[in-house]
Amino acid sequence: MDAYRAWADVDLDALTRNLAVIRNAIGDKVEVMLVVKADAYGHGAVAIAHHATRAGVTAFGVGTSTEALELRHGGICAPILVLGTIVDEEVVACLHHDIHIGLHSMNRCRTLQAAARRQGRIARVHLNIDTGMGRLGVLPERAVELLREIQAASHLELAGIMTHISSPKGDSCDGIASQTARFESVLADARAEDLVSGWVHMSNSAGLFSGTSPLYDCVRVGISAYGVVPKDATWGSDLDPVMSLRTRIIFLKDLPAGSTVGYDGTWTAAGKRRIATLPVGYNDGVPWRLSNQGEVLVRGQRAPIVGRVSMDYTTIDVTDIKDVNVDDVATLIGSDGDENLLLRDVAKCAETIPYEIACSIGKRVARVFRTPNTPGTSTCNQKRDSGEGEEDAQDTADESLATSPR
Ligand SMILES: *Cc1c(COP(=O)(O)O)cnc(C)c1O
Repeated sequence: MDAYRAWADVDLDALTRNLAVIRNAIGDKVEVMLVVKADAYGHGAVAIAHHATRAGVTAFGVGTSTEALELRHGGICAPILVLGTIVDEEVVACLHHDIHIGLHSMNRCRTLQAAARRQGRIARVHLNIDTGMGRLGVLPERAVELLREIQAASHLELAGIMTHISSPKGDSCDGIASQTARFESVLADARAEDLVSGWVHMSNSAGLFSGTSPLYDCVRVGISAYGVVPKDATWGSDLDPVMSLRTRIIFLKDLPAGSTVGYDGTWTAAGKRRIATLPVGYNDGVPWRLSNQGEVLVRGQRAPIVGRVSMDYTTIDVTDIKDVNVDDVATLIGSDGDENLLLRDVAKCAETIPYEIACSIGKRVARVFRTPNTPGTSTCNQKRDSGEGEEDAQDTADESLATSPR
């Protein structure tokens, strides 16, 4: 680990446990489609998909054909669905690699039929019905017409019928109940004409963990599998965070009272303060909004972020942390000793949602996949003793930088 400036520990055992929690709740008859869009919410899609396959996941959902192909080239053979839709330029590759495609219009239906025919392949499509999300999806009153078109097309296969939930409780919009009613009415009409085939699916993490969504043939879960308890959840407190974001103190210095820290000098030392610089910034997934707001864990204690978060660096006040040293591990997301920074809490502090933080963890951050509880694999070694003693902080910094094995 010492070679890394910053790394994301990805605890694959936690993923296994979360998938088991989900599996227990849905029973044997419902499939899990693990959503791995945005590089598996920043966790690393190919590694996550392989591990999930071993844990019994039978399908994957992605955002774009590029993501689908990354999985295929990474050796994932399971069905992969582009959840939203594709643009015309993506059609050929999708068909070539048997990627399932979300479908919502007559136009796209015809383009796919023509392309599949030219390529001598079958396009597997999931009809997306807009029951209240208002984003993609065909309106319910046009759905049966599209299903007829799909059934009549020689090179299209209906692999699923889906809808997407906008909000479990629907405080300011239609909730799951009315979305379900619309979906059910389309399904009834389609069944009457024998137009239904493949998987019927609706539920995301929020639908499943709020207990409000019918499960049908498959649940499309993302955030809950990564260990974040979904919005409006009524259960699932046993979900385990999969990712921790860590770095090390790269420099320590004692600033006299009145010194300012960071761009625009938004923080001023009220007294003599010890400031640690961390080699991570907003490009690495530390939200700029955490400037003068967030906290970081060092030696099992909380240290406040002081000054602005910049692109490559973040500064924290470690005055109250005994024996703090250069090379000490700093945890931006995750636990250290008894302290814990949950993705949800960090997101709240940054006035955003956990999804945005997870998928903004940058590509400079190494993903380190661990299976700490699986016998025969190495355990997580997060702490390391720099053994520098009680020297002047400034000297410690310089010496340690010179001698660190990099
Ligand atoms: C992202 C996505 C999901 C997964 O949502 P989570 O809240 O992460 O469980 C499910 N379905 C569709 C269509 C999505 O775009």
